[in-house]
Amino acid sequence: MRGIAGEKTLLKRLNRAATLRLVWQEPGISRSALAERIGITKSTVSQSVAELEAEGWLESGNNDLSTAPGRPSIPLKLNHQNFALIGAEIRVKDINVVAVDAYGTVLAQVQQHGDYRNVSQALDHLEQSIRSILVHPHLEQRRVLGVGIGAPGPVDTAQGLVLHAPNLGWKRIALHTMILERLPDLPNLHVDNDANFAVFAEYMFGQYKQSADLMYLYIETGIGGGLILGHQLHRGRRGFAGEIGHMTILPNGSRCSCGNQGCAETLFSTWALLESYQKETNQTINIETFLEKLRAQDPVVKRIVHKAGMYLGIFLGSLANVFDPKLMIIGGSFAQLGNNILEPAEKEIHKRLFGDEFRSIALETCVFGTNASAIGAAGFVWHDILQNTEELPALKH
Ligand SMILES: [Zn+2]
Repeated sequence: MRGIAGEKTLLKRLNRAATLRLVWQEPGISRSALAERIGITKSTVSQSVAELEAEGWLESGNNDLSTAPGRPSIPLKLNHQNFALIGAEIRVKDINVVAVDAYGTVLAQVQQHGDYRNVSQALDHLEQSIRSILVHPHLEQRRVLGVGIGAPGPVDTAQGLVLHAPNLGWKRIALHTMILERLPDLPNLHVDNDANFAVFAEYMFGQYKQSADLMYLYIETGIGGGLILGHQLHRGRRGFAGEIGHMTILPNGSRCSCGNQGCAETLFSTWALLESYQKETNQTINIETFLEKLRAQDPVVKRIVHKAGMYLGIFLGSLANVFDPKLMIIGGSFAQLGNNILEPAEKEIHKRLFGDEFRSIALETCVFGTNASAIGAAGFVWHDILQNTEELPALKH
């Protein structure tokens, strides 16, 4: 049993977390606005703010005299130069590690190349990258609050276990435990799926940040999905939610890597684009050359992208009817197709959206590029701290 003293401590932590979250979301907010928004007295807010200021989390600006009449209010802001958040992504041939501030600005970045189908090489390089970013000169005055690591497959997040990463050939890899064995002092370590973290980059730092419902398609050779519903990441029962690349679109379509026919991945993925090009021209090219040809207005490439965009729109229209998101984001290499893919997709979405006139659903390409998962992994750490009712660490020593 927690008891009355425990309840009071919990309440205090909740108030502190809410204060921090609101000052982050609305820089310049006043103490009285905070009291109103959280639903507590101004003296309780003042106490929380005083503590958070003493610990280095917040600072007061100058009196804002423009809000007359009445007493001038003092704007509060986050002391975001006092801390950093670290995010990493493991891909087949590279590891990308970034340190960001509370607003998603990249402060430092470390990349390594290798063959990460080899688990011990992946662990060696992850350890080296994290160690070198921790001592990066741009992080000198900052306290590192936590680390997120994204892996290309479903993850049992309670145990930090990568269940299955087919491109890496990994099965049941206890990444969380293995990293902590090497870096036992690492604070707040989270392991999750790369697309789940990519949607978090948008949720925490994107143009539509803090939108309750967001859908992210991470499209490379395959398709990963990240879904935020009611401000919560939707992982499903065992972390397999969002594996939308294998939804059947054409029952008699091309053979997919999973053994079925006509999966979404066979119609719109970088693999699908290059495969169509090969069929039409008998030439094998890579995605960079394909994008160059698109920029040069190559008619075959334009037609292939247009068709992929149509199928993407048919697919997204159906998903939008199920989930009713505010925003759908296209990430991964596919985002580089830009309007060439968005325009035909949008047309199909609006044809198929039930009650189209009652809602506006935005379709955008991800602005974080190849850093999306790593930035989102860091964003997840920050989100966790803002939700957390545990004691916050002091930033000043
Ligand atoms: Zn499939």
